Amino acid sequence: MNIILFGPPGSGKGTQADNIVKNFNSYKISTGDLLRVEMKKNTDLGKEIKTKIDRGSLVSDDIINNLIVKILSNMKNINGLIFDGYPRNWNQAKSLDSLIKKYNQKISCVLCLNIDIETIIKRVLGRLICTKCGLTFNKYFNPPKKEEHNCRLNYLKVRSDDSKKTIKNRIEIYNNNTLPILDYYEDQKILHKIDATGEVNKIYDEIRGIITSLET
Ligand code: ADP
Repeated sequence: MNIILFGPPGSGKGTQADNIVKNFNSYKISTGDLLRVEMKKNTDLGKEIKTKIDRGSLVSDDIINNLIVKILSNMKNINGLIFDGYPRNWNQAKSLDSLIKKYNQKISCVLCLNIDIETIIKRVLGRLICTKCGLTFNKYFNPPKKEEHNCRLNYLKVRSDDSKKTIKNRIEIYNNNTLPILDYYEDQKILHKIDATGEVNKIYDEIRGIITSLET
């Protein structure tokens, strides 16, 4: 089964994608993570990506499409994919459709995480990423505990795009470019809306219920 995780910045897509991967036989494709890997290489492409991300703008569809094609063409079995943060506009939704068809696959389920703007801002401004192990924490909601996370504290960093200035642009782009493609998935009757304001585990219970019901 292939799943799209949809939701504004800070809605918990990455956290829930990791939960799904832990419990179901699946593989996460996060365009944000793929872009950050390119960014770190500090190549011309990496620099171009950084400029866009730090402004809170979308990276070009060509760059995104190339990353997705590269990863899908290197996979032996294209099934059990969790798309996190992709597609983000109409062009990307169409590209994904044709790619997935090429591999005789389909999108079975789109999970949309809904959350209010005040919570988004608190979550994004409190987010901390461990640059060593990649886990995500939050200063306010989910501070790293010694029992669960034993990397040194100085590995914890704030993402360069998690700033007051950038978040407004990211929310605006989500509302203008990304939200409209939900209708497309609603028409296909594969859209599930989830309240993403509560506890991580409770939200995941709902997600697990939906996936399990689709599997049987
Ligand atoms: P969030 O969804 O919380 O903003 P991500 O890590 O998914 O965080 O994305 C960070 C940034 O990477 C986005 O603000 C955007 O600049 C860029 N990005 C990620 N995915 C895409 C995509 N599919 N298309 C264009 N840009 C993207």
